Amino acid sequence: MINGQTALVTGASRGIGRAIALELASHGAKVAVNYAGNEQKAQEVVEEIQASGGEAIKIRADVSNGEDVQAMIKEVVDTFGSLELLVNNAGITKDNLLMRMKEEDFEAVIDTNLKGVFLTTKAVTRQMMRQKFGRIVNVSSIVGVSGNPGQANYVAAKSGVIGLTKSNAKELAAKNVRVNAVAPGYIATDMTDELTDEQKAQMLSLVPLNRFGSGEEVARVVRFLLDSDSDYMTGQTLHVDGGMVM
Ligand code: NAD
Repeated sequence: MINGQTALVTGASRGIGRAIALELASHGAKVAVNYAGNEQKAQEVVEEIQASGGEAIKIRADVSNGEDVQAMIKEVVDTFGSLELLVNNAGITKDNLLMRMKEEDFEAVIDTNLKGVFLTTKAVTRQMMRQKFGRIVNVSSIVGVSGNPGQANYVAAKSGVIGLTKSNAKELAAKNVRVNAVAPGYIATDMTDELTDEQKAQMLSLVPLNRFGSGEEVARVVRFLLDSDSDYMTGQTLHVDGGMVM
């Protein structure tokens, strides 16, 4: 049961993060909707939650910035009095072939997708240890398991997220903080909208279930990993990928 607990979802103004925020709110969690740039979209998520009788706030923070992250965690705890559930979802891509990938594009993706998870987890740890309760889900990617040409930066970050998940799970287990991850395959969002038809067709040929997933399908697995239904699981990465990587 996550009813009455407080959740922070990073990058929750659209896509998978938005679906996670709505899913958690529909199961009674109070939700802090983090966003980096699009305040209007974040406000829409907050209003959608409030319209169904839930509680939500929006908080601007760049997850790659330690000061932003600390201020965000403080605001969540000051507002709701606790913080039980964290979903590290914020992510970006800056794809290019290895030989053409600029150093700054490598660093930018590592900073948001990997360092962001480290900073946010670090910032909630004191609160969760004090509560002797915490549930964290990191959003990795199936390419972090299997690799992908043209995504050295993204794959390195998403593999790193799986490693961070295991390391943090071992370190925090004694404090009743569980840490798991999901590795989505191809999910229909703004991120995948940017792909060409040819790229989409090529990707579908790799998916045994022969369709893209939805944000809601990822969100339900995230909710399971936050919920007491998964109380004997920590350090795991669940693939939500239509069978792509077995
Ligand atoms: P998206 O681009 O629609 O959403 C990403 C969100 O993260 C956006 O709201 C963006 O504003 C936010 N964000 C980016 N940088 C940020 C920062 N520095 N601080 C705070 N927020 C920031 O993409 P999505 O498809 O919904 O992806 C969500 C997560 O799922 C990402 O981590 C992505 O890598 C992962 N993922 C997506 C797919 C897919 O097929 N869509 C597959 C595997 C993994």
